Amino acid sequence: MVDNIALQNLRAALQRRWGDRLRVDEPMAEHTSYRIGGPADLYLVAESGDDLAQMVALADEHGVPVFVMGRGTNVLVADAGIRGLVIELRAEQVRWTTRDDETILWAEAGANLREIARTSVARGLAGLEWAVGIPGSVGGAVVGNAGAFGGYMSDVVRRLTILDASGVREMSAAEAGFGYRTSRFKAGSQAAGRKEIILAAEMALRPESVAVLEERVTEYTRRRMERQPAEPSAGSVFKRTAQYPAGFLIEQAGLKGTRRGEAMISPRHANFIINLGRARATDVKALIELAQETVLREFGERLELEIELIGEWE
Ligand SMILES: Cc1cc2nc3c(=O)[nH]c(=O)nc-3n(C[C@H](O)[C@H](O)[C@H](O)COP(=O)(O)OP(=O)(O)OC[C@H]3O[C@@H](n4cnc5c(N)ncnc54)[C@H](O)[C@@H]3O)c2cc1C
Repeated sequence: MVDNIALQNLRAALQRRWGDRLRVDEPMAEHTSYRIGGPADLYLVAESGDDLAQMVALADEHGVPVFVMGRGTNVLVADAGIRGLVIELRAEQVRWTTRDDETILWAEAGANLREIARTSVARGLAGLEWAVGIPGSVGGAVVGNAGAFGGYMSDVVRRLTILDASGVREMSAAEAGFGYRTSRFKAGSQAAGRKEIILAAEMALRPESVAVLEERVTEYTRRRMERQPAEPSAGSVFKRTAQYPAGFLIEQAGLKGTRRGEAMISPRHANFIINLGRARATDVKALIELAQETVLREFGERLELEIELIGEWE
């Protein structure tokens, strides 16, 4: 429960500092790739790590929970929205530094993953070319250890800059607890109250011919276009199981094309639940549960979520 008086006091404090930039009852549907999600009590865009640290400190002072997000491409926000303060991190500075045979790409967590992947390819640097088709921020990609076509964030991340209750500190990749589509930052990240915020990441890239990299990018893009639905989504809903891709199991269960309201299990790729227009979060959640129950009953396989359910669910 968020205390209403605390919220009003925080609102006033944020307004004094950021004026019109503070949005109240901001529809999250406007900030998620799903185009779904009810209002955030308070919403601010942080353009720098300093901005973010000040916003978090003020929220902590008032005892109001904070949810930090990147581009909202891996979340399903509840129809009832998010209580507390939502901060969209838009700190986007990037820097490439070459030493001997290695280039370190330093990027603030709000940087666009797709763009830095493209620029790295154009500079003849290998390591991120699998990411050219992945929307979202560097921070979000670290949290979920994003990956595609055999590449993972954890292959390239060397160091992270983190903000936690004790301030800003550095962390090695080994401490990040990377696993398949997870990291220490993802565990416990549901809804209110995130303990550690990623401010920046250092990634190690290797020299490679631009032609070779571009060939890979063309192939990955072709495969993505073939399989990926064009409608709004948050990418793959479930992780693959130990043995099977989740989409295969859902398809075998005969669920492709199943609808709840304006949400649908994509006829193109069964691990995508798409928004046909005005889908509600509860429609998507109903399909998530249907897929989980059916696949468990028919194949004895448990489907675990890759996307995160955020906000106030019944
Ligand atoms: C069409 C489509 C295709 C996709 N394809 C892929 C794919 O091939 N592979 C793949 O792995 N993913 C894929 N995704 C999912 C998604 O794009 C990635 O997971 C992306 O890295 C998420 O980044 P984001 O900034 O949007 O994160 P958000 O959705 O904004 O946030 C995700 C989680 O990370 C947390 N978070 C975000 N930034 C920070 C931060 N700075 N500090 C702490 N926590 C933070 C949020 O609180 C939330 O818990 C796809 C999505 C779409 C829509």
